[in-house]
Amino acid sequence: MADQKQSSLLGHSFQELSDVVQDFGQPAYRGRQLFDAIYRQRIASIEQISTLPRNMRGHLKSSGVEVGLPQIEKRFQSIDGTVRYLILLADGQSVETVWMPEGDGGEAGDGSDSGNEQENSSGFNRATICISSQAGCAVNCQFCLTAQLGIKRNLTAGEIVGQVIAVLNDHHVDLERQRLNLVFMGMGEPFLNYANFIKAVRLMVE
Ligand code: SF4
Repeated sequence: MADQKQSSLLGHSFQELSDVVQDFGQPAYRGRQLFDAIYRQRIASIEQISTLPRNMRGHLKSSGVEVGLPQIEKRFQSIDGTVRYLILLADGQSVETVWMPEGDGGEAGDGSDSGNEQENSSGFNRATICISSQAGCAVNCQFCLTAQLGIKRNLTAGEIVGQVIAVLNDHHVDLERQRLNLVFMGMGEPFLNYANFIKAVRLMVE
């Protein structure tokens, strides 16, 4: 693993993580532990993955392997609870991700009156995260500020999933109890970055 992007585990599928652990001389089941730690427990650093043996964590770390969670560079909070994030990527590009608590009451799509739900102790009963799929955009819609940037590059699957994990962690969301919607309405056109977009979607579904 030679460069920063290659050393990031975020965006790897279960099979790819199993291959990584076997490259480090570990049994394949460590791949499941790594997968759960990164995507279910949303652990940000290798050292904190307590299901892995200490010497394995040290070996991964000394080999330059990181989880690779992107950093939150800035937060812009609105009075309605919406938070717009500037997420910093490893190469210095940044993208926008938006947290919208509550939503518009219609996400269930089943006609139910979800507006009467009691808020939980976190202050919301459901939330929507708006995700970016590219840095900049090539589509050039006339009403859109992102269009003025032009296209910088496609995001990797890890950078797409990483936005969601960073925002979930910032709000301490428990996905076992709290309802979450995801929309790809941030920067970029996901179908112009189809392979990475669909890999990220599959990881998030799993
Ligand atoms: S980000 Fe969306 S709205 Fe903006 S130019 Fe691209 S496709 Fe159009």
